[in-house]
Order: sequence, then structure tokens, then C-alpha cells
Amino acid sequence: MPEKNEILVRLENIVKHYPIRGGIFLKEIASVKAVDGISLHIRKGETLGLVGESGCGKSTLGRALLRLEEPTSGKVFFHGEDILTYDKKQMRNLRKQMQIIFQDPFSSLNPRKTVSYIVGEPLRIHGVQNRREREQRVLELLETVGLKKEHMRRYPHQFSGGQRQRIGVARALSLHPELIVCDEAVSALDVSIQAQVINLLQDLQEEFGLTYLFISHDLSVVEHISDRVAVMYLGKLVELARSEKLYQSPLHPYTQALLSASPLPDPDRTKAHRIILKGDVPSPITPPSGCRFHTRCLYAQQVCREKEPEFREVEKKHWAACFFAKESGNSL
Ligand code: SF4
Repeated sequence: MPEKNEILVRLENIVKHYPIRGGIFLKEIASVKAVDGISLHIRKGETLGLVGESGCGKSTLGRALLRLEEPTSGKVFFHGEDILTYDKKQMRNLRKQMQIIFQDPFSSLNPRKTVSYIVGEPLRIHGVQNRREREQRVLELLETVGLKKEHMRRYPHQFSGGQRQRIGVARALSLHPELIVCDEAVSALDVSIQAQVINLLQDLQEEFGLTYLFISHDLSVVEHISDRVAVMYLGKLVELARSEKLYQSPLHPYTQALLSASPLPDPDRTKAHRIILKGDVPSPITPPSGCRFHTRCLYAQQVCREKEPEFREVEKKHWAACFFAKESGNSL
């Protein structure tokens, strides 16, 4: 396993706004503020979990990190280099090191191609032209993810959901990446299959020293796989801590509410009383003033409507964006 101290990815103040155009001249009349100033880092060999309700911007952040979506502003460092300054050729080389696994294995695999073609495609794009060499590598990859030689000639519809996700993992591994963004990678699977794919991802991390950004709306899945967990709300980070710390003593009211609604995998852990969040998630076109969570927060005060709380280190290595978060957790 690599040392988990070396920083592999650093995001600095990432913003991703999508313009909304209107009128005869198609002027920008508003924008969807999907990601609004996020800074974080991921160490080599670690898994950073990224959680939040659907529409909070977590997938957009993952795609901005990989430059599948160009950030509106901010910086993305990989091995200390700002990759937003890279040209097309540099990006093509970098893509080998950064891969993504999508939520829906069926729609992310071409139904008209065999598994051999699908898993071997990145190899062909990146210069492995010899067919035999490619097939040998595909076979190794399939075996790595628990599939067999006879699967090579089959098509995606001939597999179960869990097997299809294994094909997605094999394809992501084909170019020996250092970083894999798992975007809701197990969300479409049954619970028992989820556990198998997560165990596979953990084994592969151990074997190849992989680094994961693991994006999910499911807090219990994220806890199991993550070293640290970041929580997003309406395009902003609201909490970040080591996994055990965040689940045992969440500091932000939003995290507390999410955890109170999530099933507990550990029977020895006592559950906080259920917190029902008021109202709907506000629109990311016109997010609330001050603290973006104030319209749904049980503890909101006047200051929360007027000023934005700083994302600060409330306890050692435990960050939260709330005026009233205090050391010792659950203190609100
Ligand atoms: Fe709630 Fe205010 Fe804290 Fe925001 S800053 S989470 S509104 S108490």
C-alpha cells in the first residue's frame, strides 16, 4: 500500500455554474450554481466519500475533477500540477491515470459490443494495437474482477447487474489508473451485490494502491468504504472528517439529519432521534442567503440568514460550516 500522506488530488475553490439563457439574444439571465467554491484534497491510497442528497452537486464535482465538465473557475491539481492548464494531448495521457465508474452499468456499456471489445477499448485508444496482446490483458482484467474467459465473447445484456458493474470496474482498471471516481457505482445494485462490489473495490485498492473518490447518496455504503467523508449541501461542503468521527459525532445539523434518517449497520450503535428536515431542497438557481441550509435548519438564527458561515476546523481534522458547531459533537 502507498503512504497515505502524499496528496494525489487537490481541488482549490472549484466553481461550476451552468448558464441559463433567454430572450432573443440568448443572454445569460441566471445560472445553476451546481458547485460553488469547493476546496479539498485526496491522499494517495485513500478513499474519500462524498455524500449529499441528489442534486447537491457531488457528481458535478467528480466530473469537474476529471475535466469531463470544465469548471467555471478554480484549480485542480493532480500530483501537484494544475491540470486545467493541460492541452488536449496532455489530457489524453492523463486520462490513463484517472478513470470513472458510473452508476448504471447497463447504460454505460455499449449493448452492441462484446465484453472483450468494451474492456479492450481504452487499451486500443491508448496505443495497444496488437490484438492478441489486448485480449491477453482483457482476460487478466476479467479474472482480476472475478469474471471468466468464457465471458469475453458475451454481450452486456447477458450479465446480471453485479457482473455488469464488474465489467465497468475491469474497464476502469485497464490502463492502470491511480485514481478512480466511483459515481454512485453501487447505487443501482441489490444490497448483497453492493457488498460484493464494494469488497472487490477494497481488494483492488489494497492490491494496486488505488485512490477513490466514492460518490453516493447512501451514507451506510460510504461509511464502510471511506477513510474520510465529505458532506455536500447545495453546491457547498458543510462537513468533512474521518469516517468514524463523522458518523459518531457529526457537527453539522445537515449531517445529523442525514444520519438520523439512515439505517444503522452496527447494532451496538445507538441511533439519534429522527430529525425530519423541513421543506424541500431550495433551487440551486437562487440558493438561500447566508447559510444555504438555514431554510431547513432546526437551529437557524438571524445571523444564519445574513452571513455565510466559514468552513472551519472545529475540532482537529474535523471541519464544518456552521456558526454554532462546537467541539464534542451533537452540541447544537
Ligand atoms: Fe443551521 Fe445556522 Fe448552522 Fe446554518 S449556520 S447549519 S442555519 S445553525
